[in-house]
Amino acid sequence: MSAPRLEIDLNKIYHNAHTLVERLKAKGISISGVTKAFLGMPEITSTLLQAGIHTLGDSRIENIEAMRNAAVKAPIMLIRSPMLSNVERVVRHADISLNTEMDVILKLSAAAQRMDRSHGIVLMVELGDLREGIMKEDLESVVAELLSLPNIELKGIGTNLACRSGVSPDTNNMAELSGLADSIETTFGITLDIVSGGNSANLTWALSDADPGRVNHLRLGEALLLGCEPLHRQAISGLYTDAFTLVAEVIESKTKPSQAWGTFAQSAFDLNPTIKANQGHISQTVLAIGHQDTDPAGLKPPSGVEILGASSDHLIVDSGHNMPIGSEIRFQPNYSALVRAMTSPFVAKVPYGENTPSDNTTSYAN
Ligand SMILES: *Cc1c(COP(=O)(O)O)cnc(C)c1O
Repeated sequence: MSAPRLEIDLNKIYHNAHTLVERLKAKGISISGVTKAFLGMPEITSTLLQAGIHTLGDSRIENIEAMRNAAVKAPIMLIRSPMLSNVERVVRHADISLNTEMDVILKLSAAAQRMDRSHGIVLMVELGDLREGIMKEDLESVVAELLSLPNIELKGIGTNLACRSGVSPDTNNMAELSGLADSIETTFGITLDIVSGGNSANLTWALSDADPGRVNHLRLGEALLLGCEPLHRQAISGLYTDAFTLVAEVIESKTKPSQAWGTFAQSAFDLNPTIKANQGHISQTVLAIGHQDTDPAGLKPPSGVEILGASSDHLIVDSGHNMPIGSEIRFQPNYSALVRAMTSPFVAKVPYGENTPSDNTTSYAN
């Protein structure tokens, strides 16, 4: 089989998704499955839908269009604010978008009028992580203006924490979001269907004994795919953390000194390469995978193998013993390594398991 390749166990993803759907259902919280990390790949998308996730979310209109072209009918939410230059495509292919700017909402309304459609809006509120979000004190005036716009429907409010500054979702900021939902409903005499508490970083809070309040929706990517929460990258009990395996091929394996020699300057990806402690001679193995294929710092090697360095196209490991040329080493990718591997055209994507249509040996490439 070709290498490098990302092997994707659809049964494990199904299990993770189904487990989280059930656990959150008990708290009155539904999930939108976030497809951006795998670019909306049809086999994974359909696995999530079969597992009981009814709505999807993606940050890129290109991925949403790819899913529509693959005949995905489920409601899809654009989870990054639409670019003004994209509003037509957003109204055409996404049912809902997350928004923070009236300039964008006005253009969405105009585009929706031209297309004779309705477009749903979830207003994002800033609750401390300092990425996207309307400041709380401005929320009422935005709602008032939005409610006057044709072909636009206010579906709810939401927030996003943890991604930029690492601010944890907790009982305080989630109660704040609930309070804002209540006060908008009272002020304007409307009902908000969606109160979207956040991403996988919300799971520690959502699966605890905490009262979810008005929060009835989460947008989940990493936890479904990698079975962990992103605050401390702890495994979530009962979920698989190894649904994805990145396989790379050995192209050189030799006994070499552990320390480089010569006069030192910058290397291709490391501005200050450190001189390694001298360990005498080691079995140095070079794999045909590098920064252009994945995030080498996000790979977990098998036991007995240590990652020493990487450049665009090469990953260098201490393999303990010299390895046959053409043999393979299997790594567990973290979120960063996974996203880059899914996005690289050089990495073959090989889904397998019950949810694979027809032939499970065909590889999926971008
Ligand atoms: C990426 C993203 C998510 C999903 O994040 P995970 O940590 O993968 O669950 C949710 N909401 C927004 C706005 C995002 O950009």
